[in-house]
Amino acid sequence: MTDMTDVTITQGKPEISVVIPIYNEQAGLAALFARLYPALDKLGTSYEIVFVNDGSRDNSVSILAEQFRARPDVTRVVLFNGNYGQHMAILAGFEAARGEIMVTLDADLQNPPEEIGNLVAKMREGYDYVGSIRRKRQDTAWRTYASKAMNRLRERITNIKITDQGNMLRAYGRNIVDLMNQCAEVNTFVPALAYRFARNPTEIVVEHEERAAGESKYSLYSLIRLNFDLVTGFSLVPLQFYSMMGMLLSLVSGILVLVLLVRRLFLGAEAEGVFTLFAITFFFMGVILFGIGLLGEYTGRIFQQVRARPRYVVQTILQQREDAPAPAPAPAGVEKRTVGRRHE
Ligand code: UDP
Ligand code: MG
Repeated sequence: MTDMTDVTITQGKPEISVVIPIYNEQAGLAALFARLYPALDKLGTSYEIVFVNDGSRDNSVSILAEQFRARPDVTRVVLFNGNYGQHMAILAGFEAARGEIMVTLDADLQNPPEEIGNLVAKMREGYDYVGSIRRKRQDTAWRTYASKAMNRLRERITNIKITDQGNMLRAYGRNIVDLMNQCAEVNTFVPALAYRFARNPTEIVVEHEERAAGESKYSLYSLIRLNFDLVTGFSLVPLQFYSMMGMLLSLVSGILVLVLLVRRLFLGAEAEGVFTLFAITFFFMGVILFGIGLLGEYTGRIFQQVRARPRYVVQTILQQREDAPAPAPAPAGVEKRTVGRRHE
């Protein structure tokens, strides 16, 4: 399999791994550290935090390196050589993480770190997937509305039951993460992929806060892309819908031709109704164009998959050396790695 999971460290595995993707978050990192570490220390169990820098172009990397030096016992930092997207970053975090319970979290404090304890408590009850529903969503009105609409659509065309898909504060069991580590999907949606592998999923309600600093890293364009990934990555229903529609339309147009033929025979030629015909034609052209675009979405996915390039490239992992003394705060080392996982 991968060479990254071989980087196991001999000092026993932590119970909890917290995986956080970071993209240009310099403004909010200090506030995140200030709440995250105490919240985890309070749980009184072993943990590690895996930060994955997704090619930030600001000072995030040096802030992360600084934090690694401050808490090398529980901090690990995976550095990508470029921007591969939030979900790829989380997957890279999963490959590097060693815990039994994986918790994912956004870096912007929209997901309160204090909720991690509740997720973990639920996992200990025997669930292997704990999703979360935001009690009161703190996002712009249109984001909230669009996300709800997408939620409903996804619910109907995939059999993935996630009440609140746009929320990354979730916990996954080791069994699920091991399976996800075997997947070579290029553009994916982590909560949906995990749900596919879950044996015993559940959800809890969590708080949601406004972004602490900086701004959303998702433009309208990347949100649309993400939703296409979610739909075309997990369902063939859109394609099947097109074949059904094609069938229906040919039936209706067949009937129309028959009616016109009969009319022609009995009433003679007609030149009226041309514009109605235009309107119908343009509508169908729109439908056809959308259909071609949709085909393109799936073809694009196939193309990326057959190209079989590494999904992401890990430049460096900052983590404690294997020979470091157990809870040692001092000697910390930098482990150099160049290539992430390839498709098998
Ligand atoms: N993120 C990332 N790569 C990207 C975009 C975002 O790693 O290309 C991270 C970002 O740093 C944050 C999380 O993904 O930790 C969620 O991003 P954001 O808060 O901007 O999304 P929103 O809350 O607006 O959905
Ligand atoms: Mg956010």
